[in-house]
Amino acid sequence: MSALGTAIRGDAERAAVESVPTDLLIGGSWRQATGGGRFPVEDPATAEILTDVADAGNADAIAALDAAAGAQGEWAHHPPRERGEILRRAHEAMTARVDQLALLMTLEMGKALGESRAEVAYAAEFFRWFAEEAVRIPGDYAVAPNGAGRLLVLRQPVGPSLLITPWNFPLAMGTRKIGPAVAAGCTMVWKPAQQTPLSALALARILEDAGLPPGVLNVVTTSDAAGAVEPLLTDGRLRKLSFTGSTAVGRHLLAGAADHVLRVSMELGGNAPFLVFDDADLDAAVDGAMTAKLRNIGEACTAANRFHVAEAVADEFTGRLAERMNALRSGRGSDEGVDLGPLIDERAREGVHELVCDAIDRGASAVVGAEPLDGPGYFYHPTVLGEVPAGARVLREEIFGPVAPVATFADEEAAIAAANDTEYGLVAYVYTRDLRRALRVCEALETGMVGLNQGMVSNPAAPFGGVKESGLGREGGRAGIDEFLETKYVAVNL
Ligand code: NAP
Repeated sequence: MSALGTAIRGDAERAAVESVPTDLLIGGSWRQATGGGRFPVEDPATAEILTDVADAGNADAIAALDAAAGAQGEWAHHPPRERGEILRRAHEAMTARVDQLALLMTLEMGKALGESRAEVAYAAEFFRWFAEEAVRIPGDYAVAPNGAGRLLVLRQPVGPSLLITPWNFPLAMGTRKIGPAVAAGCTMVWKPAQQTPLSALALARILEDAGLPPGVLNVVTTSDAAGAVEPLLTDGRLRKLSFTGSTAVGRHLLAGAADHVLRVSMELGGNAPFLVFDDADLDAAVDGAMTAKLRNIGEACTAANRFHVAEAVADEFTGRLAERMNALRSGRGSDEGVDLGPLIDERAREGVHELVCDAIDRGASAVVGAEPLDGPGYFYHPTVLGEVPAGARVLREEIFGPVAPVATFADEEAAIAAANDTEYGLVAYVYTRDLRRALRVCEALETGMVGLNQGMVSNPAAPFGGVKESGLGREGGRAGIDEFLETKYVAVNL
């Protein structure tokens, strides 16, 4: 039984939180955790409690896998058109309920309401995209080179899949996995992030209402991620692990997935360089920088982590960016006129401040911000750091906050070398008006994605993912469903 906490303000917030089932979804029934444990969900803008949810232990996680494994056989043969129709109905329900879902997300994650609405739309779009993909799973039939035999190639669902998602995009990181898994015919155990379980549970209810059969999606919220997940990785019935989160946890889970040679998809951390050449349209570059840096309060794997700007335009770019960032209004995301919400927790805020202090200690200038904001929540002043020296940690580590470090480069070769000088390889941004340079630089960048003269790359119709230590596999686009399909080749003797 959930209890509403002191964080709730007004009827709309009460209704949003009360609309969510707060137990575990296992085999089509909502049930309490074994032993009845629960954990609190906090509003990061006030550090007050919103409500609590069921706290799954390993017995619950195994029960969820039992349900997923039990449903797999039938689900694999469910007509693709009907699998697609379930996703289509869920897309429509999310679209119809955008305001309530956005409010819920803002309450537990912090971002401003406009951003939450944009995430609901983005998240729902994955369902629409994969509704269309469900009926386009290709096969192949060919005459063997010797002319005698035939080569038949089938695509079949991988099987029961474990989905683990982070708190920063509580709905979209879920739909980006659930959409293709449903379309491909896989059953799932979903472990959403501890800090944002409400959006996940609301989504599970929407899918249930859209006709998803019992056992296809099972949701285990838990305060003990490792304890709940480990028994699943060592259970031979699990066939797939799809993880979005930090590189450190991803690396650990990859090792765990090795025992049973699980299929894995890893969407991990980033350290995106944002390159501004001296021929760039500076208005567009500053607009793009605001999006690339501040979408999701800077708490995005795709966030521009470091700005490398041509010496000739660095002062102007830095000044304009600082002016725009300084004008932003921080506050509780559901309040009128707020641009920027809080960071997710105190640990995150301390981590951001530590990187800022390190850069300043090494000689960077604080053009604007560079300090935490007062208040009960975890707010940080939007910050621009100028003349950041090469050794500063802020250029090497993922910041996850509203901090823009600016460094300069002398020429194109130096810009590319600086951009690629990282173990991460998720995304890079490039601003230039020279088409030849644009293509040269895009080809030289060691990343899975590039934003060319635009500050956002996320698009359900495109293959999202990284190279190097930013991940394995792609989500979205034509490639997204492949992550949940196996290829079977039948050698036909005529
Ligand atoms: P995280 O600490 O790695 O957590 C991600 C998920 O893994 C959460 O559900 C977490 O559960 C769970 N987890 C943590 N330790 C685990 C363990 N030992 N075994 C099983 N599960 C475990 O990352 P985060 O702080 O939530 O998210 C931020 C990170 O995600 C950043 O590095 C960001 O770049 C990355 N990210 C990447 C993408 C992408 O598409 N490449 C997208 C979004 C975010 P708890 O919540 O209970 O800790």
